[in-house]
Amino acid sequence: MTRLHEDRESRRNIEPVICYPVQSQPKADLDLYKKIRGANISKVQELRVPPRDARCFYVPKGGFFRIISVEGPQVGDLNLWSAHNLSERFYSGKTRALHGSHITSGHRMWSSFPYLRPMATIIEDTLGWYGIDPFGGSVHDVIGTRCDPYTKKLLSGEQYHYCCHSNLTRALAQFCEIRLEEAERHVHDVLNVFMCTGFTRDTGQYFMKASPVRPGDYLEFFSEIDLIVGLSACPGGDCSTEHSSDAAACFPLQVQVFESSQDLVEMGWHEPIPNAYDQSHGGLC
Ligand SMILES: [Zn+2]
Repeated sequence: MTRLHEDRESRRNIEPVICYPVQSQPKADLDLYKKIRGANISKVQELRVPPRDARCFYVPKGGFFRIISVEGPQVGDLNLWSAHNLSERFYSGKTRALHGSHITSGHRMWSSFPYLRPMATIIEDTLGWYGIDPFGGSVHDVIGTRCDPYTKKLLSGEQYHYCCHSNLTRALAQFCEIRLEEAERHVHDVLNVFMCTGFTRDTGQYFMKASPVRPGDYLEFFSEIDLIVGLSACPGGDCSTEHSSDAAACFPLQVQVFESSQDLVEMGWHEPIPNAYDQSHGGLC
């Protein structure tokens, strides 16, 4: 016991190491994305996601999509799927492990196993200035899950149907013309667009605070593969007080989709290939 006590501080003071050093990976070539973005681009779709609701939209590989704050501060919950295979979907946990708890320009949104490849790359973030605030908070997290009716029921005993989980389920079902039950299986942990979050220093609990987003702010993505994108305008509004209810002031989110008519391969861009691991897992057959 005494020995444990004595080396307690020295054990606590061991320097951490980064779990997944990403130096071996090529950095996102933001200059190339900006070059592609700068010429022969046309807007092919513009839509508005109503408050406490969600929409899905298609973005082809080599295209761009921009999520814009309009009318008032509003947080969005984002899901991505391969347009050819709904089981290839955004992997929030691995994106967090690779890039950090919050993502911004130059970071990728990675797909689930066994694919594990970039689905989209953030190329512009007007909230990039925010950094990490004195509470440890930052914007665009990949630590939250999505507000959902099951946790709402668990904690309050009440039913609420317009959480991001349900909004995304309805939107995917409508977009893919599938049943709600099937769509729900494909809804996954999100990128919390514009949301300001962190972990409390004393208890390590997930916290949220009023989003710094203001109308005109936007987050823009380059689509690395053909995508179905789902975006929910969270019932929490700016997430300054509560979510999973009709209490917060909520605003719509605007989406613009752009396509390029250039030969992107000629410009130096290549679609990421699925992960090359052979999936034998050390098994005998
Ligand atoms: Zn939500």
